[in-house]
Amino acid sequence: MEKQTLLYEGKAKKVYTTQDPELLIVSYKDDATAFNGLKKGTIQGKGVINNQMSNLLMARLERQGVPTHLVRELSPRDTLVRRVSIVPLEVIVRNLAAGSFSKRYGVEEGTAFEVPALELSYKNDELGDPLLNDDHAVALKLATREELAAIRTYTLQIDRMLQKIWASCGVILVDFKVEFGRLPDGTIVLADEISPDTCRLWDAQTREKLDKDRFRRDMGGVEEAYCQVMERLRNSL
Ligand code: UDP
Repeated sequence: MEKQTLLYEGKAKKVYTTQDPELLIVSYKDDATAFNGLKKGTIQGKGVINNQMSNLLMARLERQGVPTHLVRELSPRDTLVRRVSIVPLEVIVRNLAAGSFSKRYGVEEGTAFEVPALELSYKNDELGDPLLNDDHAVALKLATREELAAIRTYTLQIDRMLQKIWASCGVILVDFKVEFGRLPDGTIVLADEISPDTCRLWDAQTREKLDKDRFRRDMGGVEEAYCQVMERLRNSL
């Protein structure tokens, strides 16, 4: 399968059409942005790590019953995926308080929740990805009640599976963001990526940050952190 025309270029990925109208090629870049594009930079080798990590994790989720867009990895940066129409929601799960949650509600980073907290944002850069609830999503026709129910069930399943995988690597899954898409027949599948760009990952012993917060907060050691979590994941499989 080969790339045909560039369909879309986002902050971290390019998406190409292929000979098959139902399949696309996603190509991961080393570009990094934060704060809704205000901060820009490069994380050397990130594209390769995010591509490979996302594929490893999605393949595992798929085996455990979560449908995903993944077809197969084509090269270190490129992956063949099923074409979906993205549900314009950022679905966030929080196991511990961090980031915008800590700021908004005045809760110390690292405070653990008894039950994971699921949160939705409207995927809309112009509006700054505003927080919304299920009723808002239905009113805005972003998704149906049935779709939201499926998304919630899958997302909580994904959280349990990913927490287990990361725990076996000595890593705490603090929070993460996922996106879902609709296949032509309307089936909801996991899409986008699962990587240190979209997850908060802390060393279980030291609580050292091993994710994009190192870039967001100018902490240094960004490349090293991405390499370290990838290495730990590989060694745990
Ligand atoms: N996240 C993401 N894309 C976004 C916003 C958040 O992948 O546009 C991820 C982020 O990496 C973290 C989780 O979702 O793992 C929760 O992020 P939060 O709402 O705390 O936002 P942030 O503090 O990153 O702005």
